[in-house]
Amino acid sequence: MSSNRLLVIDDEPAVAEVIGNCAEKLDFGVTIVTEAESFWASYSASPPSVILLDLQMPRTDGVELLRALAEKECSAHVGIISGADSRVLATARRIGEDNGLNMLGTLQKPVRMQDLRAMLRKAINEKQTVSAGDLSQAIKDDQLIVHYQPKVDLGSERQWDIKACEALVRWEHPRYGLLMPDRFIALAENSDLILPLTNCVLGMVLRQLREWDKDGLALSVAVNIAPQLLGDLALPDKISGLVSGFDVSPSRLILEITETGAMTDTSLTMDILTRFRLKGFGLSIDDFGTGYSSLIQLHRMPFNEMKIDRSFVMELIDNEESKKIVSSIAGLGHSLGLSLCAEGIEDEEALMFLRSLECETGQGYLISRPVPPAEMAELVFASASKSGWNRPPA
Ligand code: C2E
Ligand code: MG
Ligand code: MG
Repeated sequence: MSSNRLLVIDDEPAVAEVIGNCAEKLDFGVTIVTEAESFWASYSASPPSVILLDLQMPRTDGVELLRALAEKECSAHVGIISGADSRVLATARRIGEDNGLNMLGTLQKPVRMQDLRAMLRKAINEKQTVSAGDLSQAIKDDQLIVHYQPKVDLGSERQWDIKACEALVRWEHPRYGLLMPDRFIALAENSDLILPLTNCVLGMVLRQLREWDKDGLALSVAVNIAPQLLGDLALPDKISGLVSGFDVSPSRLILEITETGAMTDTSLTMDILTRFRLKGFGLSIDDFGTGYSSLIQLHRMPFNEMKIDRSFVMELIDNEESKKIVSSIAGLGHSLGLSLCAEGIEDEEALMFLRSLECETGQGYLISRPVPPAEMAELVFASASKSGWNRPPA
């Protein structure tokens, strides 16, 4: 019998059946219930590994169920599927997380099959653990690859004017398939593997820049630098040595450091970042808005770009508060003389709002998901032949 057990509670049997069919194809044992009493009966009889719950049901509501699951110290993955608006879904998810539940995410009805499959796969993947030993071997065996996500110029007359992209690492795991960084970056950061991983990513990026140059693509690439690396005063020399070995100008690289990382040991970080800037690298403060920068520290740090965290950008349309936060961040960034990049642009309205704030560049699924290098080159060539805005990408 499958070790993945799914319990679905939804008062619409037709919806529950579609969910059940999809899960069975992924080898889940599925139980469907339509009201709370049978939910608890099934839960006690055979504890599920994944629970999907509807928020609105006639005699109970999903938030009540979330609280009761938390009281029982439920360790299953919990996903929310509902017709409620995205703000209600986000709040319900937060209630689950705040109560210590292992929240999988939310899906809005009508549910798209690919999103449901992705959610269930995420639950399966999270059961598959990887160790530092596996990661170390993977680095040696060249199992890490880099995908690139375009950064478009939002001020350009052309629709997708791509001059830069972000390098995002993936692990082609021989058994588990393509693993996303959230599965192994923390592992690398908490062991001594973050330096070899970063060197490996930088090596791939530098080789790729040389390849693109041959094709006439003068792109810049942003590379994520983990905060743990900023404790090493020799880092600027190590990275610039690597870059000059490939005969690439440091100005083609933008090093992204998260706001939280940059503000940890500020005097050491300042020393390292200043030397990076003197050597000609671009510096970007990533995930801005999620940390606690003081204005004075921010003013002193030698960044040239600020990336607005995707959590605010993704909620721009449904959430007035996010609009205010993004406007304030944009005002702050510009007043400090920083170029602004918004990450997580998923819809046209968010894009237009960011353009109205004169945000310089943007990244997001609306433009493109992170893609392998060859597709990145195709995106640049395709964009060069387009013009005008208000036209969805082909
Ligand atoms: P990040 O640097 O903030 O990268 C942006 C993340 O947002 C990427 O996730 C990207 O796929 C995702 N994203 C971009 N646009 C959208 C959108 O419109 N909607 C949504 N929902 N997401 C969007 P990814 O590739 O899973 O990377 C997650 C994080 O892992 C990165 O966040 C970065 O902190 C870390 N990471 C990735 N590659 C490396 C690396 O080579 N070294 C280090 N140290 N960290 C890395
Ligand atoms: Mg980044
Ligand atoms: Mg980010």
